[in-house]
Amino acid sequence: MIDLHSHILPGLDDGAKNLSESVNMAKKAVEQGIHTIVATPHHLNNRYENPKQTIIDRVRELNKALLEEKIDLYVLPGQETRIHGEMVEGYEIGEILPIDNTQYVLVEFSSGHVPRYTEKLFYDLQTKGLIPVIVHPERNQEIIERPEVLYQLVKKGALSQVTASSICGDFGKKIKSFSMKLIDANLTHFIASDAHNTSNRTFKMREAFDIVQGKYGIDMVYLFQENAELVIEDSHIYKEVPERIKKKKFFNIF
Ligand code: FE
Repeated sequence: MIDLHSHILPGLDDGAKNLSESVNMAKKAVEQGIHTIVATPHHLNNRYENPKQTIIDRVRELNKALLEEKIDLYVLPGQETRIHGEMVEGYEIGEILPIDNTQYVLVEFSSGHVPRYTEKLFYDLQTKGLIPVIVHPERNQEIIERPEVLYQLVKKGALSQVTASSICGDFGKKIKSFSMKLIDANLTHFIASDAHNTSNRTFKMREAFDIVQGKYGIDMVYLFQENAELVIEDSHIYKEVPERIKKKKFFNIF
């Protein structure tokens, strides 16, 4: 299994604090059945800078350490980029790092809202050959209240990634239920861990896929897992036509 979103690199953000924590996270990942993990430190979120080259250097060091420790996990470089108006420029000057230098770039909104310029920015990114992957839309207050916002972005070519622990209910019932709605409406394309540590923000990939299998069957599990593989291969992923989430039906659940 491939994990497209993690904070496993030591000392770069609010993820692993040092190499020993990274190694512990790596062991946990292997226990989960993960063989390849993308390290995606925060970029321009709060005080974190983490430009492309820093991440590439740290990934090389971590892979070396994992090899020495005989841990069977391969780390690829990536980045979780906080949305900002100069993303295209950031990419052009080599600060922004798509997942393993493919066309897929992880984009994070603030937890509260979706900037009005997002649609224009995503269009500009796509003209540069990049595909924005919106991370954890299920945890964004504006998207929860107005799923139409996500629908419009996905309809115009953006992708999205739901966090495994959201599906497990770690962020509450409402976010768990909304995650399922996103799957139902073909509004999400990947499940990833967004693991920060081995305690309160750990992997939960196996648990999340068990839930997905119970609700949708094994084919849905394979679809998500294959999509992660296709990203690493820089190929086109599987996607169904997105649908609108029916608001009334959604609010009746609670
Ligand atoms: Fe993250």
